[in-house]
Amino acid sequence: MKIRLDQVDESYDWRETLELAVGDLNRSELMALGAVEYRGRINPTYEGFLFRVALSYEQTLRCMRCLAPVTESTSSEVDLLIHTGAKVTDEELELQEADLGVLVLEDLELDTRPILIEQIQLGIPMKPLCKDDCAGLCPSCGADCNAGPCGCEKAVDPRWAGLAGLKSQSTE
Ligand SMILES: [Zn+2]
Ligand SMILES: [Zn+2]
Repeated sequence: MKIRLDQVDESYDWRETLELAVGDLNRSELMALGAVEYRGRINPTYEGFLFRVALSYEQTLRCMRCLAPVTESTSSEVDLLIHTGAKVTDEELELQEADLGVLVLEDLELDTRPILIEQIQLGIPMKPLCKDDCAGLCPSCGADCNAGPCGCEKAVDPRWAGLAGLKSQSTE
C-alpha cells in the first residue's frame, strides 16, 4: 500500500491484508507464510510523521535440528518516525541514523510493503526449533531421534556425534 503523506491531515487509520511469497522474505528457514493482517496508523508530528503498525500472521519454519516444519502464530508492533527529505538536514540525519526507529523518505509517498517485509524478517528466529530439546537427526543414519533411538545411537558418544557425522559424510 502506498500512502501520500501530504494528504494526511490528522490521523489516518487503515487495515490491510498482504499476501507475500516466501521468496520475498529471502530466509531459507521460512517454509510457508500465511496472509499478513495488519493495522496501520499515521499521525503527523511536528518532526514528520509517526507510523505505527501492528501485524499478525502465521509462519511455518524449518526446525534447524530435525528439519520438521513448525507453524506458529506471530504478531509484532513497530513505531517509526518518518522524516521526509525536504524537512531534514544532514546534521539531523546523522543524529537519527543512530536511532533505529527513524525512516527518511525522499518524497512524500510512503510504501508500506518494504517496512512490513522487514518486520516479518525480524520475526523469523535465527535458529528455529520445533521444541527447545529437539534431539535432531542421527548424524550416522539420518533418522529423527525425536521418534526414539535408532540402531546406531548407542555406539556414538553424543559429544562426538557432530564429528562422526562429518566423518561418515566424507567417506560416502
Ligand atoms: Zn526439531
Ligand atoms: Zn542412527
